[in-house]
Amino acid sequence: MHGAVTELEKSNSDSYVPELPEVETVRRGLQHLITGYRIIDAQNFHPRALKTESIAPLGSLIGAKITGTSRRGKFLWLTLNRPYVLVAHLGMSGQFLIHQRDRPRATHIRAQFQLKKALRTLELVFNDQRTFGWLSVEETTNNIPASAQHIAPDPFDPLFDKKATIQKYLNRNIKIKTALLNQEILSGVGNIYADETLWRSKIHPETLTSELTPKKVAAIIGNATEVMQEAINQGGTSFDDLYINVNGESGFFEQSLAAYGQEDEPCPRCGTPIKRITFGARSSHFCPRCQKR
Ligand SMILES: [Zn+2]
Repeated sequence: MHGAVTELEKSNSDSYVPELPEVETVRRGLQHLITGYRIIDAQNFHPRALKTESIAPLGSLIGAKITGTSRRGKFLWLTLNRPYVLVAHLGMSGQFLIHQRDRPRATHIRAQFQLKKALRTLELVFNDQRTFGWLSVEETTNNIPASAQHIAPDPFDPLFDKKATIQKYLNRNIKIKTALLNQEILSGVGNIYADETLWRSKIHPETLTSELTPKKVAAIIGNATEVMQEAINQGGTSFDDLYINVNGESGFFEQSLAAYGQEDEPCPRCGTPIKRITFGARSSHFCPRCQKR
């Protein structure tokens, strides 16, 4: 038990939890691989695999055709030829895998789907070691599922309103790092991309949002968008269409990280060792010279 807790704490600060770019990479993989397939069987194997708010069991999806995929922030969903959708949140370690006959089976399968399109069949599984991920059958309002209604549009969403988002930051009086992680202001940014965004913006993570000018906030949003776009691009190029692995995909961007997880490493801009501080139960990495308070 003690070992498990230690591992969880470590993963909160030091491992790669899927954020927008990783979820978008998975969505693109699913879009490419399973659109047009019909669900001919669906089962869940873990009590936490299906969210309690789900309006129906996974078995209710049998017979439905997958018409596409969508995403808001870190929530992704499959659209169906039905008045509801299948929402997935990857949590800390969720993965979608297409099983191959000549490869070993995944070891933490929480749900499994048999898919069919003409004569082709696929087995799609939701694998999740830490069980913080979930699936849920939900109705939508304005094309957004119930569980994602409170999530703000991310910067890649056509509905994203930059001016209104800047104002939301300025209206708060909280640390900018905390504000960036708030999915109700701007969605998709987690610990990794928040640290990278603030490093690019030369802003100390503990700076209060009320101390920032609209121009600075606009620059922060611009950098968040840019760093996530770069990560999406790298996830896209490393995409293996037989094996959609979130942790594997996010690892490719690791080589490009300037601040996150780089404690004591030289700042790529000025050479000063990157510092790590903890607040709000999370680590923040920053350059004490480029990102002064
Ligand atoms: Zn620096």
